[in-house]
Amino acid sequence: MYKIRFGPSGNSESFYADGNKSTEQAGKWLAEKGLDAFEYSFGRGTKMSDEKAEKIREKMSQYDVAISAHAPYYINFANPDDEMIQKSFGYVLSTAEKIRKMGGNRIIFHPASMGKETDRKSVVKRTYDNILRLTEKIYQTGNDDLIFCPETMGKINQIGDFYEVAEFCTIDKIFVPTVDFGHQNARTLGGLKTEEDFEQVIKTFIDAIGIERTRLMHIHFSKIEYSKGGEVKHLTFDTDDFKYGPDFEPLAKIIKKYQMTPRVICESAGSQAEDALKMKQIYEAI
Ligand SMILES: [Zn+2]
Repeated sequence: MYKIRFGPSGNSESFYADGNKSTEQAGKWLAEKGLDAFEYSFGRGTKMSDEKAEKIREKMSQYDVAISAHAPYYINFANPDDEMIQKSFGYVLSTAEKIRKMGGNRIIFHPASMGKETDRKSVVKRTYDNILRLTEKIYQTGNDDLIFCPETMGKINQIGDFYEVAEFCTIDKIFVPTVDFGHQNARTLGGLKTEEDFEQVIKTFIDAIGIERTRLMHIHFSKIEYSKGGEVKHLTFDTDDFKYGPDFEPLAKIIKKYQMTPRVICESAGSQAEDALKMKQIYEAI
């Protein structure tokens, strides 16, 4: 039933250069390129008319492109202000409502930020407790048939290294990790190089949530420039950016080794469709 899928986050420069104007046209375009996934970003808010959502749903399903939605960037489950936590619940639930209308079932969200606090343990605990409250709301609103994907983050002062995200995913079966390997490489200042490095990440999730759910993992992959605070900016797969990494090939080998069926989303700056295709080719060549 599940299969590995590859696609871009948002529409790439080439999509517009080919004369396309909106995501309603993306299903056909992606299928013709050989891609079968797409991530829609509600990063700045969850506004979309039902009419547009329905058109996207129709085209994506016609061309067998699986769609996921990225929830707003303002989500912060570590905020000490409960009013802000209520807003974060709202952002996740409204993204759920939209992705359902668009025919998808995955909601990707950033867990939290440290802000000016220094006691990481207590901030992680507060984040965990609020994601627990989120879980109740998801069940209460009948959204527990969807998949919620907390993401591993790129900056060191953001909550979401892969241990933390694995812990959040132990809360309930509705959670499947979004592992952003570019982020992970950035926050470890280039820590993902060998197959063993990638395998260590996968094993952490297997230990926390078991192999079945780990196999369904959502993956964000791009090369990301970093400095001592972690992530600086997203790059492309072009060779002049080579020094930052990570490379996809060692991960592709681990995906095969563990018979995983992840959704692999490329977040390159501008060339995300082309780079998603490169990853698919790397994977298929193994
Ligand atoms: Zn993200």
